Amino acid sequence: MTTILESKAAPRGFVEKTALEAYVPPAKPSLVGMSRAVLADALGTVGVPEKQRKMRVQQLWNWMYIRGVTSFDAMTSVSKDLRVALDAKFTVDRPEVVAEQVSQDGTRKWLLRLPGEHQGERPHEVECVYIPDSGRATLCVSSQVGCTLTCSFCHTGTQRLVRNLTPGEIVGQVMVARDRLGDWPGGTPPEGAIVPTDGGRFVTNIVMMGMGEPLYNFDAVRDALLVVQDGDGIGISRRRITLSTSGVVPNIARAGAEIGTMLAISLHAVNDDLRDELVPLNRKYKIAELLDACRNYPGVSNAKRITFEYVMLKGVNDSLDDAKRLVKLLKGIPAKINLIPFNPWPGSKYECSDWEQIEKFSEYVFNAGYSSPVRTPRGRDILAACGQLKSATEKLSQRERMALRAMAMTD
Ligand code: SAH
Ligand code: SF4
Repeated sequence: MTTILESKAAPRGFVEKTALEAYVPPAKPSLVGMSRAVLADALGTVGVPEKQRKMRVQQLWNWMYIRGVTSFDAMTSVSKDLRVALDAKFTVDRPEVVAEQVSQDGTRKWLLRLPGEHQGERPHEVECVYIPDSGRATLCVSSQVGCTLTCSFCHTGTQRLVRNLTPGEIVGQVMVARDRLGDWPGGTPPEGAIVPTDGGRFVTNIVMMGMGEPLYNFDAVRDALLVVQDGDGIGISRRRITLSTSGVVPNIARAGAEIGTMLAISLHAVNDDLRDELVPLNRKYKIAELLDACRNYPGVSNAKRITFEYVMLKGVNDSLDDAKRLVKLLKGIPAKINLIPFNPWPGSKYECSDWEQIEKFSEYVFNAGYSSPVRTPRGRDILAACGQLKSATEKLSQRERMALRAMAMTD
C-alpha cells in the first residue's frame, strides 16, 4: 500500500488510482444514455403501465436521439399528462458545455462540466474533441474524469482526480457535439464550421480515445456504446466505433462479446521493460498476454483488424530495431499500425521523434505489409491532440488532497 503521491518512488509495483469520487445523481436525472430497460423502469416510476412501456420507450428514443429535443415540452406526440409527469422527475439534459475552442484545422474541443461528489465543491471537467475530415468526422469521447492509469507520456495520466463517467455522460458527449454542430433535423452548422458535406450526419465515427481508460469503466462504456449503436436512435454502427485500451486484458474479451466495436491497443513499446515504464499497466498484463487477447478478440479478421497505436518518442522506442520487433510481434494478428507523433505537453519528459525517423519506421512496417498511417496531429493549437487532454483548471481542494493522501493504491 502506498499513496499516489509516493507512487513514483514505488519501484516495480503496478500503480493504479482507485476511483476517488462517486457519482451522485442529480435530484432530477436525465433520461439521456439510459438503456431501453432502464428507461422502461423510469417510465414505470411515473405510472406508465407495463404493457405500454415498450411503445413509450420507442417514442422517447425517437424524440431524444433522432430529433434531439432538449425538453419534454417539445415531445408533441407524447400526451400532455405524461410530459408533465416526466418533467417533474426527469430531464433530457446533456452535460453543460463551459467552453468551446475551434482550431484552425476545424477541430473543435468542448469542455464539459460534470457534478462532483460533494455539493458546493468545484465540479469536474472533461473534454470531448470533434475531428472533421473529408467525408467523415470523428468524435473523440472521454470515459473518465482523469484516468485510472499513469502512462508516463500522457498528460491525462498526470491528473490525480478520477471519477468514472456514467452512460448518460458518455452518450451526452455525442449529444453535445450534435447540439453544437446543429446536427439535428432542421439544424444548420455554425458559420465556418467544417463538417462532412455528403448530406449525412456530422458525427460519423466515434473513438473512445479521450480522457480515461474505457475498460476500467466497463459497464458504463458498454451501456453507452449500445445506445450510440442503436439503429432506431443515433445509429452509429459498431464498425465505426473504436474502443482504445492500454491493455486491460481481462476486459478485452468481454468488450468483444458485449460491445462488439473495433479495438485499438495502445502498444507503444515492443519489450516488457520499456512498456513497463511507458504503460505501467504492463507490469500487470505483459505484452504476450495482451497479444493473446488480441488474437482471440471475437470477430477479428482481415476485414476487422485491430489497430495498434504506437507513439513515436525520440530515442526511446523509434529505432529500426523496434520496427522490426513490432512486425515480428504482430505476426499472425490482423492488424493496422497507427503511428502517433508524440504530442508534447508542459512538463513532459519526452520529445517527438524526428520526422525522418518516423518516415523510416513507417516505411519498414509498410513494407512488411501493414498499413501504417502516421496520424497527423489535429487541433494542436487548442491542446486537443492525443494525450493532451487535461482539464486546464485542475487544482486540488483541501478535501481532495486529504482524500488523495488516504487513497489506497493496488499493487
Ligand atoms: N486510455 C486509452 C484511451 C485514451 S488515450 C488508451 O490509453 O488507449 C488515446 C491514445 O493517445 C492512446 O493510444 C494513448 O496512448 C495516446 N497518447 C496519450 N498521450 C499521448 C501523447 N502525449 N502524444 C501522443 N499520443 C498520446
Ligand atoms: Fe490513461 Fe490512456 Fe493516458 Fe494511459 S494513455 S494514462 S491509459 S488515458
